[in-house]
Amino acid sequence: MKPLFNRAPLTANNLAELPLGAIKPEGWLKDQLRTQAEGLSGHLFEVWEDVGENCGWLGGDGDSWERAPYYLDGLIPLAWELDDERLKNQCMKYIEWMLASQREDGWFGPEKNHDYWPLMVALKALKQYFTATGDKRVVVLMDKFFRYEYRNLAQKPLQNWAVARGGENMALALWLYNLTGQKYLLELCKKLRAQTLDWANFFHTFPVTQPLSRSLRWERLQEALEEEGDEILEGDKRPYFHTQYHLTHGVNIAMGLKTPGVVSLFKSGFKEQTGFSVGWSKLMKYHGVGYGLFTCDEHLNGSNPTQGTELCTVVEAMYSLETLIGMGSFGDDLPDILEKLAFNALPAAFDAEMTAHQYDQQANQLRACVGEHKWYNNEADSNVYGFAPNFGCCTANYHQGWPKFVSSLWYATRDDGLSAVSYAPCTVRTRLADVPVRMTVSGNYPFSDSVEIEVSVKQSVEFPLYLRIPFWVSQPMIFLPDGEIMQVRSGETACVRRKWKTGDRVRLELPTQPRVKKHWYHQSLTVEYGPLLMAYQPAEKWTRLNDKEFADWQVTTDEDFGYAILADEPKKVVLNPEKASAFGKGEPAVCVMAKAAKIDWPMEGDDCASVPILPAVTEADVTTVRLVPYGDTGLRVSQFPMAVVKTRPE
Ligand SMILES: [Zn+2]
Repeated sequence: MKPLFNRAPLTANNLAELPLGAIKPEGWLKDQLRTQAEGLSGHLFEVWEDVGENCGWLGGDGDSWERAPYYLDGLIPLAWELDDERLKNQCMKYIEWMLASQREDGWFGPEKNHDYWPLMVALKALKQYFTATGDKRVVVLMDKFFRYEYRNLAQKPLQNWAVARGGENMALALWLYNLTGQKYLLELCKKLRAQTLDWANFFHTFPVTQPLSRSLRWERLQEALEEEGDEILEGDKRPYFHTQYHLTHGVNIAMGLKTPGVVSLFKSGFKEQTGFSVGWSKLMKYHGVGYGLFTCDEHLNGSNPTQGTELCTVVEAMYSLETLIGMGSFGDDLPDILEKLAFNALPAAFDAEMTAHQYDQQANQLRACVGEHKWYNNEADSNVYGFAPNFGCCTANYHQGWPKFVSSLWYATRDDGLSAVSYAPCTVRTRLADVPVRMTVSGNYPFSDSVEIEVSVKQSVEFPLYLRIPFWVSQPMIFLPDGEIMQVRSGETACVRRKWKTGDRVRLELPTQPRVKKHWYHQSLTVEYGPLLMAYQPAEKWTRLNDKEFADWQVTTDEDFGYAILADEPKKVVLNPEKASAFGKGEPAVCVMAKAAKIDWPMEGDDCASVPILPAVTEADVTTVRLVPYGDTGLRVSQFPMAVVKTRPE
């Protein structure tokens, strides 16, 4: 199908998603997806009853809420991007059941479920299936369901999680509007907006400037929720503490980040247009950590690098960014923010085989074990690498992370071209100016600083290629097929418009140096290389906690981790791009050698103690440490104390 651009009266946009399957992963990214397919993603339905034969979404009497739709939302893009028949067949079981489940009045899904929320997830999954296959039954189901909502929202309003997550529903209704032009969908969006939490307002006023552990302890919040009783979170009768619960919940916020942008397509307003950028800067200021996201374990909990971030929050924040990028103009830095999550926070949350995941990851993580961690309200096992640590939502939801990133590497442009979001290796197949075009991106980005794009066309054709230059590049260059060199600046998007013929190659040189970012929690610093966060990794000891097929693992170390980094000393890079493979396997593809000083940094419970502030060290303590990509590590320090070298008094 053709890319869908916004239809009037929606705000015009210049970018649109390519249909699922138009972008296929290559190189290390393909290895990563294969690892995922061979890991838990490809086998979850065999080993977990919540999404297995007896689940409500296959007609059984088991789990009938969000888990199977979550799983399908990641399994569909995984199956179609890998062209994996086994996984496609598995997807079809859920899809056929869903399509057959729709009632005359438009409601669909398991009989036991009366909640709008899991249906939103199911529709997100079905939308992707439609773009891959053109199966029109999806459009019929969606239209019928949205008409149900249109008629019934007044008597049967959004409740509970759906109130926080109504932005997903609006985005889907707008997508269908762009496809069919049915005006009732715009009216439906207004109704949905009135019942959804006002994220634009929350991001602009942003009252949560303290870790929740300090400002609203979990015990207090729990009591207050009980006092409010089973009140339903709906409309303008929202009880105060229930609302606070949802507004401070990490996954809700990650999803809510797209909501102002979605609303701004049909309602013009400053708060909506700037909702993401204002919200993001406040979230990062008060709750941000080095891997490029806010902490939430599982509510906002400050910027101490031993607080955790839930895996669902990582994948939902990625999806919000991908949605906003596809909708148009919400900031030139969105691809940089997205890459930071994709290349760091996402892979760090898994073991190398993608058979076990964490619920909460920590920027400074020295023991992944059932133990004493300072979460807000998560369980003691939340940072264990396991099957379903803390709660099974992430087990069901993480599958979307890599495959949707693949879907978002390139977007179609309104002037019949392509626009780059990330240069991870892939092949794009599409039609431009009505000519079939294949474009291959190679070069092991982000593990090397050179990217090659090769074009292959049915016949010579003119189209623009928009090449985004990341913010971290110093002195980028673009080498064009005719030998011409384009000088560009970091942060800009270069447009290469020409008549392309088969074999034309564009080479991007994106040189960079290790960068030190200061002013994190307790004056700590991070070291970055391109979009990669670099971390010190002590020798890891992985211990199996049970003998299940997909086991739980604890990770500990006997090695000392106490190093402070000398911020201004030069750092040496060791590139190993041919080793680039799935994160955490074998030798790292990039290392940074940094000057550091040994310091005393004890453990406190099962986390490291708070980052020592500007520890004084002497020349004699100085040594060199090897930093590796954060995504490769199971244990790590990534927010380091900044060493202050004492010079000997004369
Ligand atoms: Zn989760």
